[in-house]
Amino acid sequence: MRILVTGGAGFIGSHLIDRLMVEGHEVICLDNFYTGHKENILKWMEHPYFELIRHDITEPIRLEVDQIYHLACPASPVHYQYNPVKTVKTNVMGTLNMLGLAKRVKARFLLASTSEVYGDPEVHPQSEEYWGNVNSIGIRSCYDEGKRIAETLAFDYHRQNDVAIRVARIFNTYGPRMLENDGRVVSNFVTQALRDIPLTVYGDGSQTRSFCYVSDLVEGLIRLMNGDRIGPINLGNPEEYTILELATAVQELVNPKAQINFKPLPQDDPRRRRPDITRARTYLNWEPHVPLKEGLKLTVENFRDRITEKKMSAVS
Ligand code: NAD
Ligand code: UDP
Ligand code: UDP
Repeated sequence: MRILVTGGAGFIGSHLIDRLMVEGHEVICLDNFYTGHKENILKWMEHPYFELIRHDITEPIRLEVDQIYHLACPASPVHYQYNPVKTVKTNVMGTLNMLGLAKRVKARFLLASTSEVYGDPEVHPQSEEYWGNVNSIGIRSCYDEGKRIAETLAFDYHRQNDVAIRVARIFNTYGPRMLENDGRVVSNFVTQALRDIPLTVYGDGSQTRSFCYVSDLVEGLIRLMNGDRIGPINLGNPEEYTILELATAVQELVNPKAQINFKPLPQDDPRRRRPDITRARTYLNWEPHVPLKEGLKLTVENFRDRITEKKMSAVS
């Protein structure tokens, strides 16, 4: 199959491409390198079945493909808030263009939506039936509302134009290749512990998140794309931790002496988050297998390698 991955040079996209390439597909990676990097896909650059197109999805593009994994969008609050108008454009105009493309070539279209559509949830854990509690005018809204309209667009293209859609609501995912300056909690803590600087815990650290290792997530995306359920379907790890517990886990793994520095809680930061994955279990026969400790270990190894590599090249 010929498969388009938008945002393929990013964290999740590049892991997805690894799987698709190994499975023998022809893969087109579309990315504007806003938060993605060529290094993430470097190993495929010379492969005859791989093609990289530098393109901003807010502009139309014509391609011929069988499936579209639509991941292009900055995912970390630091990056999506840097240029919020662009984040809205990417989610609205970008998703519209990719759905227009899917309609024209009759490709199956999977949207990488997010647990952020549930906002600061009043229902716990979050199931797909919950409509969410999202502030439409806050600093997270460009992303949260952007993804909500992306879901709306996908369902309207399905109803109006018969586009075959799949909607994944992805919960916090982590793993190798996250950027050191990504700004999300796992990459921040791991980088800080490795660099021997204090771990920055926002608020009192009692807010919770549920962390899914990237290989588990990719498996879920592939099953959803190739299954017969439209969704939305939550994909995430239902093991819930407070941010302080995560800090402790990173301390134990990397540097038990690492200090913790408490910083103000950002505006609209969700208090609790945990996926109800009954649908994914039932319809996709999917659940995560990598426990936090194990996934963190693999992540730390990767960050350590990259930090050491940088130090070496600075010396030489
Ligand atoms: P990422 O920032 O590493 O990847 C996003 C990619 O999209 C980058 O390569 C970036 O350069 C590209 N991109 C951004 N705007 C673009 C544009 N206008 N045109 C073309 N390319 C563009 O983030 P990620 O963690 O890999 O997330 C991938 C997708 O999964 C995103 O849609 C995100 O919203 C969704 N998601 C991620 C998580 C998570 O925890 N990682 C959770 C929920 C949803
Ligand atoms: N589009 C695209 N590539 C395609 C087909 C469409 O980028 O191969 C864009 C198109 O430019 C438009 C959007 O997708 O801005 C929506 O397309 P659709 O055909 O649904 O709407 P229309 O072009 O009729 O407004
Ligand atoms: N967080 C933190 N320290 C950091 C980065 C994030 O305590 O250095 C907190 C943040 O306030 C939030 C949680 O960790 O409560 C997850 O943040 P992240 O940005 O990773 O993802 P999201 O808020 O989008 O779930």
